[in-house]
Amino acid sequence: MQDNFLTYLYLIPAFGILIWYLRRHGRLERESLAALREATEAGMLEPPTLHPEIDLRKCIGCKSCVVACPEQGAHTVLGMIGKKARLIGPTNCIGHGACKTVCPADAITLVFGTATRGIDIPQVKPNFETDVPGVFIAGELGGMGLIYNAIEQGRQAMESVVELLKKGHNNQHDLVIVGAGPAGFASTLAAKAASLNSVTVEQEELGGTVAHFPRGKLVMTRPANLPIAGKMNFKEVQKEELIEFWRSVEEQTKITFNYNERVDSIDAAPGGGGYIVTTNKTTYDTRAVLLAIGRRGSPRQLGVPGESLPKVAYRLIDPEQYKGMHVLVVGGGDSALEAATSIAAETGTTVTLSYRSGAFSRAKPKNRDKVEAMANDGRLSVLFNSNVQEIKVDSVAISVDDKTHELQNDAVIVSAGGILPTAFLKKIGINVETKWGTE
Ligand SMILES: Cc1cc2nc3c(=O)[nH]c(=O)nc-3n(C[C@H](O)[C@H](O)[C@H](O)COP(=O)(O)OP(=O)(O)OC[C@H]3O[C@@H](n4cnc5c(N)ncnc54)[C@H](O)[C@@H]3O)c2cc1C
Ligand code: SF4
Repeated sequence: MQDNFLTYLYLIPAFGILIWYLRRHGRLERESLAALREATEAGMLEPPTLHPEIDLRKCIGCKSCVVACPEQGAHTVLGMIGKKARLIGPTNCIGHGACKTVCPADAITLVFGTATRGIDIPQVKPNFETDVPGVFIAGELGGMGLIYNAIEQGRQAMESVVELLKKGHNNQHDLVIVGAGPAGFASTLAAKAASLNSVTVEQEELGGTVAHFPRGKLVMTRPANLPIAGKMNFKEVQKEELIEFWRSVEEQTKITFNYNERVDSIDAAPGGGGYIVTTNKTTYDTRAVLLAIGRRGSPRQLGVPGESLPKVAYRLIDPEQYKGMHVLVVGGGDSALEAATSIAAETGTTVTLSYRSGAFSRAKPKNRDKVEAMANDGRLSVLFNSNVQEIKVDSVAISVDDKTHELQNDAVIVSAGGILPTAFLKKIGINVETKWGTE
């Protein structure tokens, strides 16, 4: 009798724990499957940068990688399906590599590209110089992502540039730095510390990819050394605070960036020895060039008359600024749909979403549903099969099925994707290697 009692005393809690474990496991599996299904339906299966390839034969299903991923809180990156780890949100992976570090079974390899989509990585020597002498690369463009790495590389690449400049030259500038993300920011400080005659050109604003993070995103990084400014002592910081810190360094150190200036081409200077850097505003004659342009590329433009008007933007910063306005959003991807719906949620806005195809097949179902619901409520209009013909000061001309309509307009947001930097690099003569799921 007493034996039976003791057996039940132990068995009941053990059984309870088993049920709790199985339920939790089942829930995680269902959530992982749903996330993977959503990514598959939206065609979002290609990781943008370095990402884990999981050897399912080696994986022992311990979940350490799922727990270790720093992006897991914000997005869904890794999940468990059939007791094995799987990359369920490939486009959310930004290459922290924490999964590989913690895997006890050596089941994870960090790779670039996939079997179906190659990623182009330029060939760069250990001193950051490309095979085009005098043209250097730092930061994510060279393959290694993350803010800390970009800052370190920006600083280190400058040591090689300084070495090159010791040989002397007859160019107007020592150096042109392209990009003001973390790599361009650190190298601009290093250029000032070395008293170089350098210019930094940035097509948008300070911060690079970080400036594009969602509002309030928690940035995970490591303390890094910034030339002149000293230690950047952050581990976890909100995106806005990080940008504010960089802005205060910009102000205190009096470094300058030529914002809203895009480099279009880089050609050998006549007579050799240096380069002519051509931007949308001017040209620079320089001995060396440091490309810190990341991997996002340049926003795709519409190429229509009036696109240079100040009311045209290539991304949404704050929906509130469009209160009471007539706004045209162009594009059919998630960023276009999110921009249109968030502006339409502001009071007094009249929003038109123009897309050249007949359906939003590239966007996530939840964004498509939101657009449909708002369109049904009359809060925004969708123009499928439409093309912007001209942007005027207070209107836009759009052709829909061969008929041109004139819409009242105060602002245009073009979310038509980006032009990746590969063509730009090849034009300069830099060798680019395509990686298909390889290290
Ligand atoms: C959603 C997301 C979340 C992330 N979270 C983190 C995180 O928490 N922690 C972390 O460490 N990393 C994170 N990263 C990665 C990190 O943002 C990048 O690795 C880092 O910003 C790379 O810095 P970079 O200076 O090399 O390039 P970028 O930051 O991409 O900057 C490149 C700059 O060059 C400019 N440029 C490009 N072409 C031209 C041109 N032709 N002319 C002039 N200017 C040009 C661009 O406008 C841009 O400002 C995240 C990335 C993403 C996408
Ligand atoms: S850490 Fe390694 S063994 Fe554990 S679940 Fe992830 S891939 Fe599998």
